[in-house]
Amino acid sequence: MNIHEYQAKEVLRGFGAPVPRGKPAFSVAEAIAAAKELGGPVWVVKAQIHAGGRGKGGGVKVVKSIDDVKKEAERMLGMTLVTHQTGPHGRVVKRLYIEDGSTIERELYLSALVDRETSHVAFIASTEGGMDIEAVAHETPEKIQAFQIEPAAGYSPYVGNNIASALKLKGDQAKQIGGVIKSIYDAFIAKDMSLLEINPLVVTKDGKIVCLDAKINFDDNALYRHKDILALRDLDEEDPMEVEASNFDLSYIKLDGEIGCMVNGAGLAMATMDIIKLYGSEPANFLDVGGGASKEKVTAAFKIIVSDPHVKGILVNIFGGIMKCDIIAEGIIAAAKEIHLSVPLVVRLEGTNVELGKKILAESGLPILSASDLADAAQKIVKAVKEKK
Ligand code: ADP
Ligand code: MG
Repeated sequence: MNIHEYQAKEVLRGFGAPVPRGKPAFSVAEAIAAAKELGGPVWVVKAQIHAGGRGKGGGVKVVKSIDDVKKEAERMLGMTLVTHQTGPHGRVVKRLYIEDGSTIERELYLSALVDRETSHVAFIASTEGGMDIEAVAHETPEKIQAFQIEPAAGYSPYVGNNIASALKLKGDQAKQIGGVIKSIYDAFIAKDMSLLEINPLVVTKDGKIVCLDAKINFDDNALYRHKDILALRDLDEEDPMEVEASNFDLSYIKLDGEIGCMVNGAGLAMATMDIIKLYGSEPANFLDVGGGASKEKVTAAFKIIVSDPHVKGILVNIFGGIMKCDIIAEGIIAAAKEIHLSVPLVVRLEGTNVELGKKILAESGLPILSASDLADAAQKIVKAVKEKK
């Protein structure tokens, strides 16, 4: 789960990390009131969406009067902000953050993440902050350094010193960064984060180290023990179909293609997407209905797939193990009865109760193309979609 920058800063503030003063605003009036309360003389108006690159897209503006706070708030609220992380459709801005302006001497990069190769939390540090870190990694990888944290030892000043030197910080600033890293590490562990990115971490003209941006991803599997974090979820920032899928405990990710997929097992879902591409089309989603899905879950999955207007055909690919083929068949029929199915549907069933599943589908009267194996299924659905065009 992701949260907004202003929420992330609030979390970090709670662990003692240095963040500028700021206030969220949901309307122009609130933005003006927030700016007055902060007092200026420099404010930053920041669009709050779950994506980075806002600065370049016009979603971060430094201003020097309440009048300009008002102008920028009017411009940003309701705008569709397109950044390299939002995709071409962008995101509608519904919240703002009004923040004290900092005077920037240097912009650095600092993040913490779970390094799956070493099973450690690692800090990533670079002197090249403020810009696209992916571009830095690509063009000047030597400017990015990683530091592993020994889980048993946790944060130690030794790590702080190494990161300070990677960031070319000396004296008092090296001391400050140690404190920043400790707070970040504490927050990371306490709140079960999977990624915490400060870009930029700045050195101000008066020598202070401040977190000027903050992005946090939380481990979804640990959210049950963080009700405070769960309360920060903003459903407006999530794809409505993905929200619906999460209500049914389905692993669903919307994609840009035209063939809707319903599959059990993440590996089989990946293979199904690959083979759709191999035969010349693109998957509209990743969908894993899981191991022991009920008829209700299958019905919900099917409805989610067809509610995507880009779906021009559906491929159901189920290998019945714990999941039984007849349950899948019943789920499909129940869903098809509720919606008017106007796109071709190919079903490939294999495994437990396969004959019963096929019989149920055959007797349903639905126009279903059945397939013998994965390649046959993919070819059939790609062909059926092409013919309909
Ligand atoms: P994004 O990463 O989405 O573009 P940031 O919060 O990193 O958004 O802001 C982009 C840039 O705007 C920063 O690199 C920094 O130069 C400037 N900026 C952001 N917040 C402030 C602030 N409080 N004071 C001064 N400059 C800021
Ligand atoms: Mg940033």
